[in-house]
Amino acid sequence: MYRTNTCGELNLAHCGHEVTLAGWVQRVRDLGAMTFIDLRDRYGITQLVTDEHTPEHVKEAVNHLGREFVIQAKGIVRERASKNKNISTGDIEIEISSIRVLSKSEVPPFTIQNDTDGGDDLRMKYRYLDLRRPMVQQNLFLRANMAHVTRTYLSEQGFIETETPVLIKSTPEGARDFVVPSRMNPGEFYALPQSPQIFKQLLMVAGFDKYFQIVKCFRDEDLRADRQPEFTQIDCEMSFVEQEDVLNTFEGLTRHLLREIKGVEVDAFPRMPWSVAMEKYGSDKPDIRFDMFLHEMTDKLKGKGFQVFENAPYIGGICVSGCADYTRKQLDELTEWVKRPQIGSKGLVYIKLNNDGTIRSSVDKFYSEEDLKGIAGLMGAKQGDLILILSGEREHTQNALGLLRIEMANRLGLRPKDVFKPLWVVDFPLLEWNEETKRYFAMHHPFTSPKPEDIALLDSDPGKVRANAYDLVINGVEIGGGSVRIFDSQLQATMFRILGFTPAQAEAQFGFLMNAFRYGAPPHAGIAFGFDRLVSMFAGLDSIRDVIAFPKNNSGRDVMNDSPSPISDDQLEELNLIINLPKEK
Ligand code: ASP
Repeated sequence: MYRTNTCGELNLAHCGHEVTLAGWVQRVRDLGAMTFIDLRDRYGITQLVTDEHTPEHVKEAVNHLGREFVIQAKGIVRERASKNKNISTGDIEIEISSIRVLSKSEVPPFTIQNDTDGGDDLRMKYRYLDLRRPMVQQNLFLRANMAHVTRTYLSEQGFIETETPVLIKSTPEGARDFVVPSRMNPGEFYALPQSPQIFKQLLMVAGFDKYFQIVKCFRDEDLRADRQPEFTQIDCEMSFVEQEDVLNTFEGLTRHLLREIKGVEVDAFPRMPWSVAMEKYGSDKPDIRFDMFLHEMTDKLKGKGFQVFENAPYIGGICVSGCADYTRKQLDELTEWVKRPQIGSKGLVYIKLNNDGTIRSSVDKFYSEEDLKGIAGLMGAKQGDLILILSGEREHTQNALGLLRIEMANRLGLRPKDVFKPLWVVDFPLLEWNEETKRYFAMHHPFTSPKPEDIALLDSDPGKVRANAYDLVINGVEIGGGSVRIFDSQLQATMFRILGFTPAQAEAQFGFLMNAFRYGAPPHAGIAFGFDRLVSMFAGLDSIRDVIAFPKNNSGRDVMNDSPSPISDDQLEELNLIINLPKEK
């Protein structure tokens, strides 16, 4: 038996017991007469001690220990003289009588404790060492726990966990596919699933009624803090349901997770149409922990000769509480902030409602004090507030204001990580116009059904058609999305036509789905949650990387095993990826 106990469980009740522990040496402190060793495993840290009673050979062995050696130590539990309230085993220590080195360690490249001295890159290269750090482990244990709770909950609700293939024919979710060459079928490729979308719909045709899977998905996109080339979804599909049934079921799951994992009860999730989210929050994933709504002022600010506004299709502003004392320097810096390419505004107009009752703006030349007071009144601003105004093309400016709103809320500390405010954003547009390619794309995916009352607009004004599509948003993060599906092969064919597929292309790519719909497809709908995002939000983290055991870096590389990497000519040839040119004579 390697150990009688773990390093996280001994306390005063064990005093006098002989125990054997095993783990990693975190630290050795030699105080002359006594030596202390912090022994660590997944469960905690226990202090081992040698003193004048310790046999010489044990002291000798301790002298040769280094950081991260794996050892086994036997000894008697005793009460500590100076207790450590910060750890569960802080009342006791082990007076060791024997020690065995199970495995030596080279000096690790960084210290393996919560406040490590290792930089990001180094920790990624030695991820297995980073994963020894308790705070990193905690994130992954949280992940395991959330997966377990989700599985139990959905299974109890009658969902059948079903695996779908990883080597598939491409399913469009709006990203590029990762592809895998087929050795047995020269010149042909599998795609890795961007999601199991088509398979779960086929499972509904097959009569599974309720499906779920916690599943890896792959998308070849540019990476950001909340994106990885491979990520995990809680993926679901249900038959004979309407939108409300899906929302209620997954509101139930979210509420259950919040309760079980975080001990938090939340109100019923509001449902907000996409158009309202854009108008009031400048975002399709509004953070509703705070108000600071957008106010459209397009009609109110025109006619005073300020050319920028005269020419703008949209003018809108936000009112930031208590920021009238922003200095010139701060306002200049904010102006630079909105001009960054990510925000893309041309400039920023401000109105200050000073605490002394005066009102000042960056457009005093064009607007009288009366005008400014009128605007402030319309926006519900009060003394001490700062009004920030942007103008330009409607959706672009709403988005910019939405980002400015988040930035100001961050500065004001209005986004506490331990408050959870979920909502459903509903009634998304079905289609999105792409200026570059001059054609429509499905905003969610091509299998999403239009709202029945909007179907008539499909040919005349496709951009106006709303979808039976919904997103779950928590604290400004899109946690999940789904839709009611098209289950009629005729309507699906129309949809493919509007998306620019010829009937032959649609047949080649999705023929099997349309075929399946010819054999009795039930009405169905579904959703997928981004599991990594959900876990990182529950962990209070900003990046999903920290909740993934072996993540990739921002260039999609695994710097630990150095992949992607070239493969041998033999492999390339076997996969028919190089044509063997005749050898030169
Ligand atoms: N397959 C979709 C996605 O990955 C989710 C869904 O529509 O159920 O976003």
